[in-house]
Amino acid sequence: MSAIDIIMPRIEIDLGKIAHNTRTLKELYGSKGIDVIGVTKVVCGDATIAKVLVKSGISILADSRIANIVKIRNADIHTQFLLLRSPLSLSESVVKYADISLNSEFSVIKKLSKYALKQDTTHKIILMVELGDLREGVMPSDIENTVKKVIKLKGIKLAGIGTNLACFGGIKPNDEKMGHLSSLAKDIEKKFGLALEFVSGGNSGNYNWFMSTKDIGKINNLRLGESIFLGCETLNRKPITGLFTDAFTLFAEVIESKIKPSLPYGDVYQDAFGNIPKFIDRGLIKKAILGVGLQDVLVSGLTPMLDIDILGASSDHIIIDAKQSEIKVGDTVGFNLNYGALLSAMTSPYIIKIYK
Ligand SMILES: *Cc1c(COP(=O)(O)O)cnc(C)c1O
Repeated sequence: MSAIDIIMPRIEIDLGKIAHNTRTLKELYGSKGIDVIGVTKVVCGDATIAKVLVKSGISILADSRIANIVKIRNADIHTQFLLLRSPLSLSESVVKYADISLNSEFSVIKKLSKYALKQDTTHKIILMVELGDLREGVMPSDIENTVKKVIKLKGIKLAGIGTNLACFGGIKPNDEKMGHLSSLAKDIEKKFGLALEFVSGGNSGNYNWFMSTKDIGKINNLRLGESIFLGCETLNRKPITGLFTDAFTLFAEVIESKIKPSLPYGDVYQDAFGNIPKFIDRGLIKKAILGVGLQDVLVSGLTPMLDIDILGASSDHIIIDAKQSEIKVGDTVGFNLNYGALLSAMTSPYIIKIYK
């Protein structure tokens, strides 16, 4: 690639908008005593972005992958790190690189204890509680028993309990669920005579609960990714007032533009992904190809900023109906991204990251 090549495809990242969203959410949740952990997994542990979060007041960064945490640490970012995903085989590095981890299996916590002792350190854990979304978490009836075993482990500090809703099962965090978590926290503190540093109520899906509740109970923490980066809550994907929803924009290049039939001609068999495609005959249309595809980004999560239609995509191409727009070869088309598109674009080595 020569220096004068325009770098394509690329994602433009507006760091000012991310900083604004971070400060606004931190202030909003802080107004009722809830602290915000910044979740970097959807930006693949991008160190430049992580730095912006820390500069905007975030004091704990969380990621589901140790590799991402190591990447951020290596960029000289000094803050606390939380691992979001239960870490069995990586226990030794978890203790080394993460200050805190979310856990739901005693056998894993035991392993963390072993390595914490070996490394002469204390590893904090947040015990996850299942409240109906059916991803990670100890069943509420098993919590007391688990706590009893965990607090006996050397090198481990039970720093809190937490739950995760609105992820796998799409279950809404509401007063009943948050009340349940609060009461479990109260019971644990009373029964075992300890103070829990974190009662972590969830993620970006907790926004509507937070705005409507009269009593946050003992919830003092949320782990936020999507609302910081995309400016929306995640139950209905509605924009949050005062936040930017366009901190990220994907740009791709038009590599072909021609008038072509809307209906493929010849014998119809499987396409590149094993589907038999169906098309509607709309006569001749203005068809263009963009130099970005499924190897770069989850195409179904892209919304074009021009009035054009995405007709389909293969590994390296998006095929569009350019409709009335005057696009020609060499032009650039911009897209907004949803969570899945952002996750894939930030993870793709082919998409150049440009910070503004
Ligand atoms: C991804 C994740 C989050 C952040 O979720 P958002 O919807 O991006 O706010 C919080 N907690 C856990 C356990 C996660 O895996």
